[in-house]
Amino acid sequence: MSHIQSIDPATGALVWEGAPAGRAEVDAALRRARQAFPGWTALPVEERVAAVQRFRAVLETRKEEIAAIISRETGKPRWEGLAELGSMIGKVGISITAQAERAGEKRSDMPFGAAILRHRPHGVMAVLGPFNFPGHLPNGHIVPALLAGNTVVFKPSEMTPATGAAMADAWAEASLPEGVFQCIQGARETGEALVSGAIDGLLFTGSAGAGAHFRHVFADRPDVILALELGGNNPLVAWDGDVDEAAAIVVQSAFVTTGQRCSCARRLIVPDTAFGSALVEAVASLSQLLLIGAWDETPEPYIGPLISDGAAAKARAQFEGLVDRGAQVIRPFAGIEGRSDAFVRPAMLDVTGVSVPDEEIFAPVLQVCRVADFDAAMAAANDTRFGLSAGLVSADDALWQRFVLESRAGVVNRNRPTTGAAGSMPFGGLGESGNHRPSAYYAADYCAYPMASFEASDPSGNMGALDGMLRR
Ligand code: NAD
Repeated sequence: MSHIQSIDPATGALVWEGAPAGRAEVDAALRRARQAFPGWTALPVEERVAAVQRFRAVLETRKEEIAAIISRETGKPRWEGLAELGSMIGKVGISITAQAERAGEKRSDMPFGAAILRHRPHGVMAVLGPFNFPGHLPNGHIVPALLAGNTVVFKPSEMTPATGAAMADAWAEASLPEGVFQCIQGARETGEALVSGAIDGLLFTGSAGAGAHFRHVFADRPDVILALELGGNNPLVAWDGDVDEAAAIVVQSAFVTTGQRCSCARRLIVPDTAFGSALVEAVASLSQLLLIGAWDETPEPYIGPLISDGAAAKARAQFEGLVDRGAQVIRPFAGIEGRSDAFVRPAMLDVTGVSVPDEEIFAPVLQVCRVADFDAAMAAANDTRFGLSAGLVSADDALWQRFVLESRAGVVNRNRPTTGAAGSMPFGGLGESGNHRPSAYYAADYCAYPMASFEASDPSGNMGALDGMLRR
């Protein structure tokens, strides 16, 4: 198998290279994780809490360094790499609280003793991470999984192995027992070896296509917990209000992280009125003012390049496919002179009346749809097999109530970008966006199974239940 390489998409410079793990190495990692599981799960939860707190302390010390690795490897600007590290650090406290609240122990007194609810870990968890938040998103599985008493084998995206390696170093510095956390590097073949190995759970954040594949793979493995955090084709309905403020919400929703967030708005739904036209124009103008540059440039850019030249070529083909179907170009899909092919400008199309595929375009491409009334806006918003995020821009409370009532999505925001989400809330989607196992605050739920017990300290009192009902 050839080496995997991580390339700075802005410069083409090599960031990391190494050999992918083959099946034998993956199986060896799974065996170590299996051996480590009984000891790790038997520890008092306070000791696991202390271990993840040591990890947090390492992240705090190495914040700038790891954020720079993320930025170089993904192309995201320095401010965003630092924000990602901030989320990783914040995740530790949130996960400790969530673990206690959602997966702790509850006891109620009973005449015979007690009813006790406990949560038990599944065992060995495989974590597969995406490239777009290569630290934060796998970290959102790993921390709760370890806290619950599972052991973890993590494979980062082949596009972002340096971030995975930095996370592995940080866990090593946190001095976990041997085999409790391991990182293996590789592409899809390594992921396939991991998924087909002796695991008790797959915690996956990535594309809907891979998620659908895993649903099939695990259909007959009911013992394996599967948590899928997938993509979306997210609608943003912008209905009324100040045009410039609305445009700022749309631009941030569609183009932050160069459109490479699962929660980015892909479809802008506006009324076919003067407000709608003014808003589309304002979005088209504002989008072209965004500073675009390499992660460490001054002045600091709002967005960087896409993850790779290949990702730009794929998005361009998707854009051209929409044009071939009859979509009108508002802003073209264009590269930037003197920059690598991974740099693209925000692009917009009017797809009103055009039959378009219900696909996620993981790039700064926004499809505009004009509708006659709010009924048509709701119908268009929900006209997707996905259901991750949705947004409404409106000052009308009645419209918002309706939007909440009728939206089929897991993250539904009002007058805020569709990408806004707090770690202290669940994050997940319906339909092809997931499998009803939301992450973030609810990750504790899929990292352990509930065990309900009736407990009496001795067997006395059970004969009484049969009193008078025995043949004597
Ligand atoms: P991807 O599905 O290509 O890869 C994700 C990971 O899975 C990688 O580690 C990859 O090597 C591995 N993988 C892919 N196919 C596999 C297979 N058949 N067997 C084993 N392993 C396999 O996703 P990506 O391109 O890295 O990430 C972008 C996607 O992730 C977008 O669709 C985005 O919407 C989605 N995403 C979702 C969320 C969420 O929370 N819902 C968050 C971030 C990204």
